Amino acid sequence: MVSSRGAHYVSRRLFTALARPTIYETPPSAAQIFLIERLCTKGQLQEALSLFFSLNSQPPSQTYATLLQACAQHRCLREGRTLHHHMLASNHHPDLFVSNHLINMYAKCGCLEFAHQLFDEMPHRNLVSWTALLTGYEQNGRPQDCFRLFARMISHHLPNEFAFASILTSRAASKDGNGGRQVHTLAVKTSFDAYVYVGNALITMYSSCIDSDGGWSIFQTMNCHNLITWNSMIAGFQLCGRGDRSLELFSRMHREGIGFDRATLVSVISSCSDNALSSLEQCQQLHSLVTKSGFVSELEIGTSLVKAYSKFGGSAHDCYRVFSETKHRDIVSWTGIITSCAEREPEEALFLFGRLWMDGLEPDRYTFSIIVKACAALATEHHGLAVHGQIVKAGFEDDVVLANALVHAYARCGAIDLSERVFDQMPVRDTVSWNSMIKAYAIHGQGNEALKLFEQMNIQPDGATFVGLLSACSHAGLLNQGIEIFDTMLKNYEIAPQREHYACAVDILGRAGRLTEAEELVNQMPMEPDSVVWSALLGACRKHGETKIAERASRKLIELEPTNSIGYILMSNIYCAKGSFTDAGFIRKEMKYWRTKKEPGLSWIEIGNRVHEFAAGGRRHPQREAIYAEVEGLVCRLKAIGYVPETSLVLHEVEEEHKEEQLYYHSEKLALAFGLMMTVTSTACIRIMKNIRICVDCHNFIKLASNCVGREIVVRDANRFHHFRDGLCSCSDYW
Ligand code: ZN
Ligand code: ZN
Repeated sequence: MVSSRGAHYVSRRLFTALARPTIYETPPSAAQIFLIERLCTKGQLQEALSLFFSLNSQPPSQTYATLLQACAQHRCLREGRTLHHHMLASNHHPDLFVSNHLINMYAKCGCLEFAHQLFDEMPHRNLVSWTALLTGYEQNGRPQDCFRLFARMISHHLPNEFAFASILTSRAASKDGNGGRQVHTLAVKTSFDAYVYVGNALITMYSSCIDSDGGWSIFQTMNCHNLITWNSMIAGFQLCGRGDRSLELFSRMHREGIGFDRATLVSVISSCSDNALSSLEQCQQLHSLVTKSGFVSELEIGTSLVKAYSKFGGSAHDCYRVFSETKHRDIVSWTGIITSCAEREPEEALFLFGRLWMDGLEPDRYTFSIIVKACAALATEHHGLAVHGQIVKAGFEDDVVLANALVHAYARCGAIDLSERVFDQMPVRDTVSWNSMIKAYAIHGQGNEALKLFEQMNIQPDGATFVGLLSACSHAGLLNQGIEIFDTMLKNYEIAPQREHYACAVDILGRAGRLTEAEELVNQMPMEPDSVVWSALLGACRKHGETKIAERASRKLIELEPTNSIGYILMSNIYCAKGSFTDAGFIRKEMKYWRTKKEPGLSWIEIGNRVHEFAAGGRRHPQREAIYAEVEGLVCRLKAIGYVPETSLVLHEVEEEHKEEQLYYHSEKLALAFGLMMTVTSTACIRIMKNIRICVDCHNFIKLASNCVGREIVVRDANRFHHFRDGLCSCSDYW
């Protein structure tokens, strides 16, 4: 009978079969045995087992072996165990041949302890027994056990090519170059290195543990290369970050008329993504090769192509075209391609998100979290609202991570009331929830709300909480409260201020005109101040027309952040005012050199469900003539009510008239003009997004414009929100 210990592994159906008497009278017919073997080779294991258990005579060892092999191949542990118990129950003592198959089955199915126990209990072992267990350890990712067994093995047997390949592959997996080299020496001594199988494993081992050149010299000395050899070398180069050589080898393979398979393509496409010198064109070439060779429907290949496309600037439509051709798309692969687009092109990520539903798939929490982040990057709240609706429908409403992301996203879209609503309805809140809401108030200049919320916070705050609070105080001009928070964070909460806290504190002091104190604070910092701290100090100096501290801060800022033009402009203007024109000229030259590397200012505005992008002085928009005319008209109207262009921000060498022109065509002015022109009859608020901080001139300009056209204008810059209404801004001119 079957032992009760093993019984729970046995399926009910098979267990009934096992319960029958196990005394056989006649041997099974040859036809029955043949049929069982045929079913196994065709992969119909369940049918083969049913037939096997219906035999009423003792099957030969070969049949057990065939069935065990099929179980190993399909990783069917339960069925394999049932066979083993059947063997014991029917007094069929496994011989060496069947025992090896048992070890192989248990090892392949991941039951390595049991396989090892059987191995140790064997009265006799041969090379196959050792190799079966060794391969099991290798394939189940247990390189240390694999190495220990190999060391034991070589004192009994000379390993065969399979044992060599397994041990080398396991050395590759554990990045053990020294062990790998020792095995290589042994393989050379025993001439097993001549086997193509061993050669391939050597290439993988060298590329994974040492460098691609070790693998390359093996590749070159091998007498015979099969497809796996080429694949190992191509993958080896890719692994070592030599995508260029991997691509080179692939074209050689192509020239020599050697075919390729999916493994080749996966490595080659990854090499293309990894290689900085690759191009969109190369992705397209690979794509057409993949299409021609019929691999285009394979998910793994499709996803790596998408990755390559998005890396080299392919559009979301390109990505979708590739991806839509793959079969068996699941939510994980969809989320992967949405993620690859989300950071660079949030709009495109939303486009892909819309397509996902067409596959009949449902987004999971992770997909939603990516897409909520994409919504945060866009200016208007309607995307957020739509996704929020889907989250509720999907039953993820109470997910704290998603709710936190929504609080942040709504705040970033200017809809602070919606942030509040999500926050209020959360059944459970973590530190991130409180931080997100405090930060939401901060970027909207609602400092008192942020402080009130902090008083209600019923869990331990962290460093990020204080960044939120301090920036809320600085954005709302709450000097005393801000200083108090900065002073108490260490005393009362044991959170030591970091650079970002110092930057906020400098900002708070600077805003109130306490510049000497602000500079002292910078000098007292226990760590090196970074560019954020210096910019905060510099911004305050600019605001209050202070030059001595500004000079010191500018110099530091230029040192730390040579691409930030503010430091240069102020320095150059200070030198000019002092009459040191040589110094000013030098500063300007330096700035020109770095300027090319600066992030260009871009603004976006959404009109009629389409996002329009504007660059400073850009003329790419189809309605550019009308837009420029609108800006000029607006300039005239605003000058009449007191607009004076802030030309001191433009370099001194430029003629006064040109300076003004440069200012007129800043991206946010173009976006505003376009928005006004497209919504003449509306009174709705105009929303503009900007990737960098809004400049003083545009800020003045938009303030006056909000009064002149009688509309509310909201600008989200890199730092915060500006709500312009009736000639004033919510930031009280400090940002
Ligand atoms: Zn501007
Ligand atoms: Zn403002």
